[in-house]
Amino acid sequence: MSEDCIFCRIVDGELPARVVYEDDDVLAFLDANPLAPGHTLVVPKDHYETLGDLPADEGEAVFAALHRLTPVVEAAVGADGSNVAFNNGEAAGQEVPHVHGHVIPRFEDDGGRP
Ligand code: 5GP
Ligand code: ZN
Repeated sequence: MSEDCIFCRIVDGELPARVVYEDDDVLAFLDANPLAPGHTLVVPKDHYETLGDLPADEGEAVFAALHRLTPVVEAAVGADGSNVAFNNGEAAGQEVPHVHGHVIPRFEDDGGRP
């Protein structure tokens, strides 16, 4: 737990979030500023900044959650597909330094950009 990390504070229940999935290692919740309806973030419960910092077993847990969740998120909002992505490092646009995967639902008529 990193005191000044918003995702750690969400994991800890100190900040509210619309949680859509939880297991021992992973929490998934709706993005506060969604790029599309159903935009979901998947985070390891432990604090690691980037994918490279994440131990392999926790990476597997994050991937397993993405694998399970992505079709459910798509179905929930009637999406035709989704972008599943990590912004890894500040240079790549990572604003929250707690590793997280985005599931961004996509629609045939969304203009080609999330
Ligand atoms: P990044 O740019 O780091 O890959 O993405 C961070 C994401 O976290 C952004 O899509 C942003 O909207 C989302 N976000 C930032 N602060 C909060 C928050 O307090 N709650 C939730 N649910 N999402 C947040
Ligand atoms: Zn954190």
